[in-house]
Amino acid sequence: MAGFPIEYARRIKTLPPYLFAAIDEMKQKAIARGVDIINLGIGDPDLPTPTPIIERLREAAGNPKHHQYPSYEGMLSFRSAVADWYKRRFAVSLDPASEVLTLIGSKEGIGHIPLAFIDPGDVVLVPSPGYPVYPVATAFAGGESYFMPLLKQNGFLPDLQAIPKDIAKRAKLMFINSPNNPTSVVASKEFFQRVVNFAHEHRIIVCHDAAYSEIYFDGQRPASFLEVDGAKDVGIEFHSLSKTYNMTGWRIGFAVGHKTVLSGLGKVKSNLDSGVFQAIQEAGMAALHLDDQVTDGLRKIYQERRDVLVPGLRKLGLEVEMPRAAFYVWVTTPKGYTSASCTAHILDQTGVVTTPGNGFGQPGEGYIRMTVTTSKERLAEAVERIGKVGF
Ligand SMILES: *Cc1c(COP(=O)(O)O)cnc(C)c1O
Repeated sequence: MAGFPIEYARRIKTLPPYLFAAIDEMKQKAIARGVDIINLGIGDPDLPTPTPIIERLREAAGNPKHHQYPSYEGMLSFRSAVADWYKRRFAVSLDPASEVLTLIGSKEGIGHIPLAFIDPGDVVLVPSPGYPVYPVATAFAGGESYFMPLLKQNGFLPDLQAIPKDIAKRAKLMFINSPNNPTSVVASKEFFQRVVNFAHEHRIIVCHDAAYSEIYFDGQRPASFLEVDGAKDVGIEFHSLSKTYNMTGWRIGFAVGHKTVLSGLGKVKSNLDSGVFQAIQEAGMAALHLDDQVTDGLRKIYQERRDVLVPGLRKLGLEVEMPRAAFYVWVTTPKGYTSASCTAHILDQTGVVTTPGNGFGQPGEGYIRMTVTTSKERLAEAVERIGKVGF
């Protein structure tokens, strides 16, 4: 029998072009040539998950009561551990039963939330440059993304005043992200308050992505969106154990805040997935109960790396924002280079992989992103190699 042409659905055919394809190809070629690659392109912690978390999984995996389907919303004991952690870390009170939802990593919740609230033609406000899941999840639900550019002159925060009135009227949901990927910028409580006021005025659900709230430097702890008056009445906060505890492979996160928003997300989840393996939720509890010394130790490592990379790049004459959080360094491309040509030049001449800023959205053009998920020795070597070839 002859086959027939298989066609993707429009939602797949209209996915935005993958802007990292060119750099991926160059990287593969360099590896094939035997180049010693220093990868500053990935945002995935290189350090292992702390031992007590692994031990708890080992123990819990053997318990037959965890071998059955979990509840889609998560074990109440895990959700209580989240509420305790929020109280301790942010002085925010949450009802574990109705204001906390367990997620299979925060990406799962971010990807699913538009399905609960967005109808075709509804607008979603999306920061750009930003995490690509926000606009893609919006498009999958039939919504339209309105990109809020993150510009240097606004401190790389969305300018709410610049959002046209008719767009604000049609908007049903807004994503914000602090500490930010890719710029590493941390929003203040004043900014969150402006977002809450704007959301109240225009009846917009706010989804704050706080995946990096625990990767901070110089002892300056980023705020939770929920610390601001009225925040719980307009939205939710996404959180993850991935970055805080080196658990990206484990797939566990959570969302907290507005009950009805969470139950909408829960309705999607209960029809599409069956929750997080309970043994992993047990391990997640062990993570949330860890002494701050453990996370202080991880923060110290990232900060030392930042303090090798940023001054090193500045000595080469590059314009670099000093990150206060997250593990990204947002570098202005030198004169005569675009994001793509700068990334290509560095990779081709030095074997150092970086990410072109425009891959996170057009307003990221003119920047490249580097990560500190590599040892300080390798970061120092990367700076040295770039210094040798120059621009
Ligand atoms: C890494 C990341 C996430 C989510 O990670 P999970 O592993 O799915 O929890 C969410 N948002 C941003 C901006 C990220 O960089």
